[in-house]
Amino acid sequence: MAVTPRGTTPEPPDARPRLTVLSGPSGVGKSTVVAHMRKEHPEVWLSVSATTRKPRPGEQHGVHYFFVTDDEMDKLIANGELLEWAEFAGNRYGTPRAAVQERLENGEPVLLEIDLQGARQVRDSMSDAQLVFLAPPSWEELVRRLTGRGTEPPEVIERRLEAARTELAAEPEFDETLVNTSVEDVARELLALMDVV
Ligand code: ADP
Ligand code: 5GP
Repeated sequence: MAVTPRGTTPEPPDARPRLTVLSGPSGVGKSTVVAHMRKEHPEVWLSVSATTRKPRPGEQHGVHYFFVTDDEMDKLIANGELLEWAEFAGNRYGTPRAAVQERLENGEPVLLEIDLQGARQVRDSMSDAQLVFLAPPSWEELVRRLTGRGTEPPEVIERRLEAARTELAAEPEFDETLVNTSVEDVARELLALMDVV
């Protein structure tokens, strides 16, 4: 008799890995959670976005982002090379389409870490995408994390916090919400949602 381990469901033969979108306000801990998760599960492929933002210290071209000029971003958009794109707090960000399609066709789990506007575009263009919202334990803790990261000047922090109010209000639009109290717990929960463990 075939036995299904408790807590797992057998996959239908045509099950395709889903694309998972992780969104949440700037400073909530998206990059920290994803980095923790990928340390133990490097097979989870994270899309590398293009951005017009300048690199932070330690950020590498092609690893954290493809850092592009405004002209280059214009061309990516005009040529339809982005699955989605958005302007966020004064910079543009977009997901290169071809790499995502290739991974999904190869049956690999795909993760996008993008803002609310991008998440909405993916929801509208890929009906089977899974949208996950990462929420802070409180507003005060979000401000503490964003300020404590020390990567943005005060006026940029203000812009990002303004965007955060809109993003937090949109939480009900997402399929799942994870509260980032513990990086380890959230990374585990995200892996489970992606069916990686
Ligand atoms: P995002 O990618 O969402 O903008 P980061 O991953 O850069 O956010 O995290 C912002 C700051 O919060 C970083 O300094 C990070 O170390 C810290 N941080 C992330 N998750 C937690 C957590 N669960 N508890 C405390 N600090 C955290
Ligand atoms: P940061 O400048 O802090 O790296 O990113 C700012 C915001 O842009 C974050 O909410 C991040 O998730 C989002 N972002 C990063 N890449 C993309 C992308 O390709 N598309 C969209 N729409 N947002 C992105």
